[in-house]
Amino acid sequence: MNCIFCNCIEDSQILYETDNFIVVYDIDPIQKGHLLMITKQHYGNIREVPESVLYELIRLEQQVAEIIEKNFDVLGVTVMQNNGLVQRCVNTSEVSA
Ligand SMILES: [Zn+2]
Repeated sequence: MNCIFCNCIEDSQILYETDNFIVVYDIDPIQKGHLLMITKQHYGNIREVPESVLYELIRLEQQVAEIIEKNFDVLGVTVMQNNGLVQRCVNTSEVSA
């Protein structure tokens, strides 16, 4: 599988890890504290993700939001979930309507 995350993320870049996820800083952040929560298993979209993994994701989002709020001067936390081709994490300047 040609996966951008498997191809470029090194173990030393992993900030946090669970059974099903790794958390890393985005290499091209669009705002302070821009982190990626990446499944270890490859899924094409959210409809393929088992319920137990989705539950773990929500719990992880809570933890990551707390870390961001404590460590960065932010007014809030935005959580996005990409599916299909958009999950290649292009720079937002590359996405135009
Ligand atoms: Zn991968």
